[in-house]
Amino acid sequence: MREACYCGRVGEVEDREPVLRASRTEALRCPRCGHLDPLPYLDTDARLELFEEAERRSLERLTEGAGTGRGGDRAVW
Ligand SMILES: [Zn+2]
Repeated sequence: MREACYCGRVGEVEDREPVLRASRTEALRCPRCGHLDPLPYLDTDARLELFEEAERRSLERLTEGAGTGRGGDRAVW
């Protein structure tokens, strides 16, 4: 699902950062401007699904970032 933010960033909603409260995702944050979007226009099921996907991608990014970051430095120098 693609969507444009106020700041002009266009991308998949699932690529935004999940914001957790009480260990539950309740909004997605735009990585560029920090705008919080609680997705009020979606029904509960669709919203939960989207939040779960955003959490999955967020974890994936963390794992990938840690791997390429350190490994890359060593390989180059
Ligand atoms: Zn934004």
